[in-house]
Amino acid sequence: MKEIILIKNGELALKGLNRSNFEDAMIKQLRRRLKPLGEVEIKKAQSTVFVQPADEHFDFDEALRRVSMIFGIAAFSRAAVCDKDMDDIIAKGVPYLKDALAGVKTFKVDAKRADKRFPLDSPQICARFGEVLLEAYPHLKVDVKNPDIRVVVEVRDFAAYVRAGQLHGAGGMPVPTGGKAGILISGGIDSPVAAWMMAKRGIELFAVHFASPPYTGPRAEMKVKELLRKVAAYSGRIKLAVVPFTEIQEQISENCKEEYFTLIMRRYMMRIAEILARRHDCKALITGESVGQVASQTMAALGVTDAATDMLVLRPLIGMDKEEIIAISRKIDTFDISTLPYEDCCTVFTPKHPRTRPELDKVIEAEGALAADEMIKRAVDSTVFEWIE
Ligand code: ATP
Ligand code: MG
Repeated sequence: MKEIILIKNGELALKGLNRSNFEDAMIKQLRRRLKPLGEVEIKKAQSTVFVQPADEHFDFDEALRRVSMIFGIAAFSRAAVCDKDMDDIIAKGVPYLKDALAGVKTFKVDAKRADKRFPLDSPQICARFGEVLLEAYPHLKVDVKNPDIRVVVEVRDFAAYVRAGQLHGAGGMPVPTGGKAGILISGGIDSPVAAWMMAKRGIELFAVHFASPPYTGPRAEMKVKELLRKVAAYSGRIKLAVVPFTEIQEQISENCKEEYFTLIMRRYMMRIAEILARRHDCKALITGESVGQVASQTMAALGVTDAATDMLVLRPLIGMDKEEIIAISRKIDTFDISTLPYEDCCTVFTPKHPRTRPELDKVIEAEGALAADEMIKRAVDSTVFEWIE
């Protein structure tokens, strides 16, 4: 018996003329993610995408796990492929549902008859299929209002399909329909979540990480790569830029008022990230900041950071509580990596009494002594790139 994965688009359906671009982007992501599992045939019709493996040893469970991580998919299911013939639908569909029906007491049959040439109408399909299910699985009862499981028979263009329920997809929009943006990624909890949230809106990610050897070690950098690998499972591959930040941090530490250290450092990060992001065709920067979380994330401090760049800065976590952010980091499996105890470049020099209500002109004055352009150029010129997937 042949099996197939049926995929329903989410917001895609709303996109009018653009819809086919969005669908194509989603299908491209599907191909990329499923390719390592073997050859698949992918077709689309009537806001459903059909994924049929060529090989009978295809790992369906792994394929479904991968499908569940692709943005732009509202719902998906696995289904038995039958001829468009009621006898064949029964012969293949009834045994196919055995495992799904084993643990439940009640069911309901829904029918979708997209091919109007099929001799039975939808109520007749439901009645007939329900009847044979009751015979085959006598422990079951029909409950049309609140069934434990919904069995669906779909008669479509290419074939008929029988499935039990469906699963929620990752939602959002397919990457890269939202364009590209540069995520400032640390080893913390927040920035990987911010990256995932913007990828969910269809944004392709370019990542910038600031490393300060010898204050930060190779393990801090490994951690960032591990985090990006988790995000890339959803977003597609990510180009990472690792920027040497030691000189800038030392210069700020030696020459600027301690209370402004973090803010000045963050302003340098924004400037450098902007240069790299523009070179990579990004239309925005992304950070993991949220109002009030730390001294450098008060509204006043965020304003001072923002003023360092002309680029749009997206802060998807801005109104979220730590609890909410942690819940997402667990869901996307980054939490346990983020909480590994390797030093981050920010923790090394953190001032004891940072300014929570800084004024921009004072910060700019405090920055004055630094040879900013030369340092930024050196940092950008020594940046190292790597693809993460
Ligand atoms: P995170 O958990 O993402 O580290 P945080 O709450 O610890 O966030 P900060 O350390 O103040 O906050 O950093 C704020 C934001 O600045 C981060 O979310 C990230 O976008 C960026 N950032 C911080 N450190 C780095 C770094 N070393 N490299 C790149 N970006 C960084
Ligand atoms: Mg941090």
